[in-house]
Amino acid sequence: MILPSMMTRTDLPDQIQAVLFDLDGTLMDTDDQAVENLAHRLRRLRWPHPDRTARRLVMTAETPGNLVLSLLDVLGLDELAMSLTRPMRQRPGSDFRIVAGVAEMLAQLNGRYRLAIVTTRGQEEASAFLAQHHLEETFETVVTRESTRRLKPHPAPVQHAARLLDVPVERCVMVGDTVVDVQSARRAGAWTVAVLCGFGERRELERARAHLILEQTAHLASHLLPLGHNNDDETR
Ligand SMILES: [Mg+2]
Repeated sequence: MILPSMMTRTDLPDQIQAVLFDLDGTLMDTDDQAVENLAHRLRRLRWPHPDRTARRLVMTAETPGNLVLSLLDVLGLDELAMSLTRPMRQRPGSDFRIVAGVAEMLAQLNGRYRLAIVTTRGQEEASAFLAQHHLEETFETVVTRESTRRLKPHPAPVQHAARLLDVPVERCVMVGDTVVDVQSARRAGAWTVAVLCGFGERRELERARAHLILEQTAHLASHLLPLGHNNDDETR
């Protein structure tokens, strides 16, 4: 078996049995919603280039926010952090958008791979998203911020998902849009796929040593399914 820690740049090996998905920016179209809301406000202020400015602002706002959350997690204050940022987060019952092509990709993987969610969102919000898109039966395991004491980039959430699935972690691949997803998976000893349709940028995801970087989450299907499916995405 090839150990993920031995590899830097590669495609995914045949040994993969389980796929663990982050939610925000990976399956859930969060950043686009934030960008659109902000662009709308900027347009009302007659701001020049509202769309470009909004995207740039949301992207930069995300990274220090993540850093603060991680620091508070290290200090054992993540509960406090989550309650402070709660008003900024989407509430259950609101409209959760799914990333384009993801529903079809999940339908293709379902039955061939064990599927799980590993998210820093709460159980309530994760369940609301899955229910809204009729995905409750697709995922065997949903690891949320209530599941483990330590959060991504700590390896605990990825290790916990692998344990619940009863699949060795080196046979799991974590799919996420940010550096914390890659770090959590790498530290746990899992394979990592980074997607560029969320908050992360190619350079930082490369530095975090993602095994594979894809433009879109939906492109994962062509890396995990037998030949015959279109392979039109970007491999490294
Ligand atoms: Mg994410």
